Amino acid sequence: MFAYSSVEQYHARLQDGSTTCVQAVEHYLDQINQCLHLNAFVTVYAAEALERATALDNARQSGTAMGPLHGVVIGIKDVISHKDHGLSAASNILKGFTAIYSATAVERLLAAGAIIIGSLNCDEFAMGSTNEHSAYGKVLNAIDETRVPGGSSGGSAVAVQAGLCMISLGSDTGGSVRQPADFCGIIGLKPGYGRISRYGLISYASSFDQIGIFGTTVNDVALALEVMSGADEYDSTVSQQEVPAYSQLLPTEKKFRYAYLHSALHHPALDPEIKEAIINKGEELQAAGHTVEAVDFDLIDYVVPAYYVLTTAEASSNLSRYDGVKFGYRTGSDSKDLTDFYKMTRSEGFGKEVKRRIMLGTFVLSAGYYDAYFTRAQRVRQLLCDQINAIFKNYDFIFLPTSPVTAFRAGEMDDPIAMYLADIYTVMANLVGCPAISLPLFRHSNGMPFGLQVMSARFDEVSLLQVANQLLTQKKD
Ligand code: GLN
Repeated sequence: MFAYSSVEQYHARLQDGSTTCVQAVEHYLDQINQCLHLNAFVTVYAAEALERATALDNARQSGTAMGPLHGVVIGIKDVISHKDHGLSAASNILKGFTAIYSATAVERLLAAGAIIIGSLNCDEFAMGSTNEHSAYGKVLNAIDETRVPGGSSGGSAVAVQAGLCMISLGSDTGGSVRQPADFCGIIGLKPGYGRISRYGLISYASSFDQIGIFGTTVNDVALALEVMSGADEYDSTVSQQEVPAYSQLLPTEKKFRYAYLHSALHHPALDPEIKEAIINKGEELQAAGHTVEAVDFDLIDYVVPAYYVLTTAEASSNLSRYDGVKFGYRTGSDSKDLTDFYKMTRSEGFGKEVKRRIMLGTFVLSAGYYDAYFTRAQRVRQLLCDQINAIFKNYDFIFLPTSPVTAFRAGEMDDPIAMYLADIYTVMANLVGCPAISLPLFRHSNGMPFGLQVMSARFDEVSLLQVANQLLTQKKD
């Protein structure tokens, strides 16, 4: 029986001959088949993955050095391009579309020896918090199948949660990696803006989007981050800063300085049990010699409105390219004129939530409302950056809940505003551009897991991963 606990342990077993990449892939294909009802995958590349595993096994046996992700079985969200493979953003408007190039992140994973086992279900164009807005249907949470896995990267979270691959990629514009990680009881990292190239990632809101990583150990997540990060000539928003060897820098005895936002932890939307767990964690950290202090923060009720004004504005522009002309779904052969043709194609091709956001974004950018909404939201973003960056002058981390509640029941989030408001704790990191991670530390009396979210200053993924490692190691002790 193949059993997986970490890349490190898997590599040791490959080296001592007790397993092979083919065995690993066979194991995952079997697991995927047993869990088809969870609906995590859009497409599984069974034959291709087995072929690649064979080639990797042969290369190792003939003495070729193993790459850092040699044989690591990875699933990728259906918004990340993988040359010659389907790419649809879980939307009817792109159904049947094949990627003509690979995302930089994917190329780097492959160059490091990874095996891509399939593409993963998500909310259409990464818009949503439940994975119920997908052209492929909803994804189920493997811990309680009556509940959602979170979104928008629900398939990516479930693939790791249910043991259908070792690591997965998602995208995080406002929490889409951290919130499903929280709902599914696994680790979810959103790197800082500009850490990983967005080349080949389907854009939702370009000044917020980042590729993120799901895993079960901090070491695995650090390794994947280190492989994918760094300058890329195809994306000028990626930092030129050198990429640290994250996975080599994890162990630390450091005593850190933590801040928590008083208004966030005392927000009426927060489930009392989650609040208590986070407060207790703060006390525990203090008792262990770390500094833990409350800081004032008066913008908490502005973050969700600012996020939805700015991201829908960017989305309305980004999604204008899906017009039925150059690629993707096309209808309207009986249309009167070009405008009519666009309207028919877009009305049929996009789902309800995506249309809602395009309309909202078009509205906030319209001449009469631009200053009232878009300019104001930009000001909030600037104020938020100033306040959060000021906190990072005195503290290493800000800790928060990841979500105010545990995984919703399927069908429960039928009011879009209620769904948006539940993003209160995750959108901050995207508005500011700093890295943030959700760590599976707690369990609710309703049986569901929930996480602790930690945010660090921009480009300080090293400290973030170190503290993640410290917190999860303490949990095990
Ligand atoms: N739930 C958020 C939204 O619907 C986050 C989406 C994301 O990060 N892609 O916009």
